[in-house]
Order: sequence, then C-alpha cells, then structure tokens
Amino acid sequence: MEQVRRGKTFIISGPSGVGKGTVLKELFKTRDMYYSVSATTRAPRDGEVDGVHYHFMDAEEFRTMIAEDALLEHAEYAGNYYGTPKRYVDEAMDSGRDVILEIELQGARQVHAKRPETVRIFIGPPSWEELERRLVSRGTDTPEKIAQRLQRARIELESADEYDYLIINDTVEKAAAELDAILCAEHCRVDDRLDQILGK
Ligand code: 5GP
Repeated sequence: MEQVRRGKTFIISGPSGVGKGTVLKELFKTRDMYYSVSATTRAPRDGEVDGVHYHFMDAEEFRTMIAEDALLEHAEYAGNYYGTPKRYVDEAMDSGRDVILEIELQGARQVHAKRPETVRIFIGPPSWEELERRLVSRGTDTPEKIAQRLQRARIELESADEYDYLIINDTVEKAAAELDAILCAEHCRVDDRLDQILGK
C-alpha cells in the first residue's frame, strides 16, 4: 500500500488589514488545505463564528491550553492572546493535507524555531498609505485599536525579510495566483520528489 506523504505547513503573515483572509478565501476555491483555527481571547467581530473563525475563549481557558502544552505557538497581539492548537495541525499533516497557519510575526518565529521546514510567506500591501486606507475602511476597530494595529504593522513590515516569500496584495486574484505558485513550487522540491521516486 502506498504510504501517505505528510502534508506541509505554510505560515501566512502580514499586517492587519492587508487582506490575508480574502486572498486565502480565493486560494481555497481551488485547493483543499487545512486552515488552522486559532484560539484567541479577542472578542468576536460581527459575523465571526466560534470554531470557524477562531476558538473564542477567556484568558483562563487560554492559560490552561498553554499549561497543557496544547499550543504549537502563542503570542500577544493588540492586547489579546492568540495561539495555534497543535493537535489538529499534526492530525492534518499526518493525513497528508497541507496546513495554513495565519499567524503574526512572534508566532511565526516560534514555529520556525520548532519546525524549520515550515514555509513562511508574508503578504504585504502595495504601499503604506493603502494599508492605512484599508484598515480604516474596514470599520471594525476603534481609532485607538487602528493606531495600535498600524504601529504593529510597521514592525511586521520591517521584519518581512525573515520570511521565505513576499506577496504584494495588489489584486486578490494575482496574490492568490502567486500563493498557489509558491505551494506548487514547494511540492516540487528535489529532496521531496526524489524521496518519492526512490520510495523513501
Ligand atoms: P485579528 O484580530 O485581526 O483576527 O488577528 C490579529 C493578528 O493575529 C493577525 O496578524 C493574525 O494573523 C494573528 N493571529 C491569528 N491567529 C493567530 C495565532 O494562532 N497565533 C499567532 N501568533 N497569531 C495569530
């Protein structure tokens, strides 16, 4: 019986408001991947569903997950905690599915330190002004939160050179096509392919 090839993990980071969610939605029209649903202490936004967009929880529940070593990584962002439940990521990879972790910089660093084979992709805006415009027009955050997110966005953009790939989200279709091309290329890596041919 043919052995199931383990899936790969891809980290997607990028400043708040850059359109990561929209690009991923476009990608998922044609690709079956496991989108890791994070745990967070942030309040749900309008339309967000528990268990679909996030596992919403209070700080105590979050701390319990940390204590039980149930998170692959976790970070504080704009006053809230976010973390990746480890179990589902591993189950998906074991079953041969690729995994998408949509996480910020600190989390990306933690995952890379533990699992250096993880592919890191950064999605950036066409310009700083465009990012400001997108964040404000989203209309979901208070001016204070927007300012906090912009400050964080600056730090994240300046750290984008830690990533393996940089996609500029000018149009959603183009950004999704570039993301798809990266996933294809990563599955054509010679060490992987050769193992496949040689049956390792
Ligand atoms: P938002 O509140 O806008 O949904 O997310 C804020 C930031 O937290 C985004 O950059 C998002 O990618 C990041 N994020 C979401 N889930 C996780 C997670 O599980 N871990 C980490 N480190 N960051 C996350």
